[in-house]
Amino acid sequence: METVGEKIFVTRSSMPSYEEYVEAIKPLWDTHWLTNMGKYHEELEKKLRNYLDVSELSLMVNGHMALEMAIQTFDFAEGSEVITTPFTFVSTTHAIVRNHLKPVFCDVKLNDGTIDEKKIEDLITENTVAIVPVHVYGNVCNIEKIQEIAEKYNLKVIYDAAHAFGIKYKGNGIGSYGDASIFSFHATKVFNTIEGGAVTFSNHKIYEKLYNLKNFGIRGEELVTEVGANAKMNEFSAIMGLCNLKHFETELDERKTRYEAYMRELSFIKGIRFFDKNESATSNFAYFPIIIDDDFRVSRDELYTLLRENGVYARKYFYPLTSEQVCFKNKYKNVHLDVAKMLAKKVLLLPLYADLEMQQIEMIASIIRERICMSIE
Ligand SMILES: *Cc1c(COP(=O)(O)O)cnc(C)c1O
Repeated sequence: METVGEKIFVTRSSMPSYEEYVEAIKPLWDTHWLTNMGKYHEELEKKLRNYLDVSELSLMVNGHMALEMAIQTFDFAEGSEVITTPFTFVSTTHAIVRNHLKPVFCDVKLNDGTIDEKKIEDLITENTVAIVPVHVYGNVCNIEKIQEIAEKYNLKVIYDAAHAFGIKYKGNGIGSYGDASIFSFHATKVFNTIEGGAVTFSNHKIYEKLYNLKNFGIRGEELVTEVGANAKMNEFSAIMGLCNLKHFETELDERKTRYEAYMRELSFIKGIRFFDKNESATSNFAYFPIIIDDDFRVSRDELYTLLRENGVYARKYFYPLTSEQVCFKNKYKNVHLDVAKMLAKKVLLLPLYADLEMQQIEMIASIIRERICMSIE
């Protein structure tokens, strides 16, 4: 059984063996080429293009800069409006605002937490230029409907696919939809390069533009054409990615086994709900969110505290909504977000990672089941 005092966090970074990584980085001591679109940067771009089933991919220093730069490539007029959701990591909203654009928050759907496509059109004005939806927890947005709206009003669609690494939708890589998608390879994500990210798209012109932007806008030794920044992925990160990619299928299997174990333990408890899975999409088992409904014996916050007292660090992702954060709250309209507000109060992410032990899942489930919910139906 569990040793008292051992903490279980919501995630644990996947790593190759020490020997494998050290062997892989050895050549860097010969070349001294550590960053600036090196050999491993190129190799990882190629392998990921293939694995993610996209025609174009540009590696970035992290997922946030991937989104910030993906938005920047479209040169939207300052102050233009971007429709997005507040039920996400704060990075999504930051990336819009840091591009001098105005986030317009749209509500989400109760069944999967993604943007409510039926509420998008009401928010469109003559200043709207783009939609930034989020495949939250890897739940796929209503891609067809969003595309239809975008075409009707001539808007760009940039997906925050930070949670959706490796997901296929209708047989295609999730990153092949919309005008661009971004992925995060942060240490806590399902696939990591320590810190890292990527933008995927199909127009090759965007590749050139991003290449330029992520390297300070430098075109030549004496020529800078754009206000870029530094968002390049270094070679140590690229090599970590190459190693982790080799083991990714095993990683998925391990996660799937644990995901299914949770489902067996928790799926018949009154008051606990799960998000719907899109039947046309594969799953990457990145997260295990549960929804604590009103008919559960205790509230989400009480359950969070009780788990914490037992060393289980579940997370309230995503609470508060980004629209409620002090940096945005009084600046942007924050109305008609009833479903998002409700979900933010009810969702709890349970620990899920490849080497989470099965006994730990049983332990977590028994805290939820036996100590709290005596009334199993
Ligand atoms: C992690 C995350 C990001 C940012 O990615 P980083 O690699 O941490 O910069 C953006 N959006 C969402 C939804 C995320 O979860």
